[in-house]
Amino acid sequence: RFNFCAGPAALPAPVLERARDELLDYHGQGLSVMEMSHRSEAFADIAAQAERDLRELLGVPDNYRVLFMQGGASSQFAMVPYNLLGAGGTPNYLYTGIWGKKAINEARHLAGAHVAASSEANGLTAVPRPSDIAVSDDAAYLHYTDNETIGGLAYDYIPEVGEVPLVCDMSSSILSGPLDVSRFGIIYAGAQKNIGPAGLTLVIVRDDLLDRALPSTPTMFNYRVMAEHGSMFNTPPTYAWYLAGLVFDWLRHDVGGLEAMDRINDRKAAKLYAAIDASGFYSNPIATANRSRMNVPFVLADDALNATFLRDAEAAGLLNLKGHRSVGGMRASLYNAVPEAAVDALVDFMQEFERRHG
Ligand code: PLP
Repeated sequence: RFNFCAGPAALPAPVLERARDELLDYHGQGLSVMEMSHRSEAFADIAAQAERDLRELLGVPDNYRVLFMQGGASSQFAMVPYNLLGAGGTPNYLYTGIWGKKAINEARHLAGAHVAASSEANGLTAVPRPSDIAVSDDAAYLHYTDNETIGGLAYDYIPEVGEVPLVCDMSSSILSGPLDVSRFGIIYAGAQKNIGPAGLTLVIVRDDLLDRALPSTPTMFNYRVMAEHGSMFNTPPTYAWYLAGLVFDWLRHDVGGLEAMDRINDRKAAKLYAAIDASGFYSNPIATANRSRMNVPFVLADDALNATFLRDAEAAGLLNLKGHRSVGGMRASLYNAVPEAAVDALVDFMQEFERRHG
């Protein structure tokens, strides 16, 4: 069976098998990782190895801290302004969809937010062009959502904003291919798509941004505190951290790194979009250059067939294809752990369904 869930998403089969094998007794410790003290040597090794593998995969420069936090990407919507507004200035945002809107609203609780460019006029079907981005003179940072998971809308470039720190929500695109971390001030991602189980949140933050927190920042929200305590100010989500480490190891050694992952993700998405475009029955509204490789929303020519499509897909072993409740239709999420065979099976099913109902 193949799982196309947008999150929590499929995990790589070899990762789950290894976790199963190590579940009761981790490397002869007589304990499950779940039962270990986060202060133990064994867990310190697991945590450090996960960070090393992630740094290696993404080529994270030495002047960036990697934080393993909690609270999901949604907590980052608040943590970003808390941590960056201590020196004043206005939060700036690019608006391309539902997740970006939530980030904007959270900043508005703390300070005014300036929308430096928006995709509202094109119905959230294309990202703003670089020349459309108008950052305010007093910008404290510019935030954007690299991949809007619900709309299936992705940036095809990294915005350039001079000295203004660039902050990116990469929840649904991180690790899908190589990335130049040095272009960013802060990158964050909820883990439950390409990293590991829900409950863990990854933050990559440039050193010089650790001094800008508002005095009222809650301790658990403070990046500097987290960095100084090795993400262990309190009890971290140890098991999720361990599983993320297994995923990083899988990416490095089984897949062969992010360039290899990138090529696979290109092929998977190209196959599905080609099938959609070749049919008069399925459609996707997103501008070609901004089509997401990770989340492919599509609608059927006749909405009345949605329930039948989902029922038959499930019977064929194709799970979780229902679109987000706010937009309807279908969505196939093609994160790293979704194999190419899953896309082949989905395309075959869609073509067969169209023959029967189109
Ligand atoms: N940002 C993006 C792009 C997402 O896709 C999601 C969840 O799907 C979130 C933020 C919210 O993440 P979380 O549930 O970890 O708070």
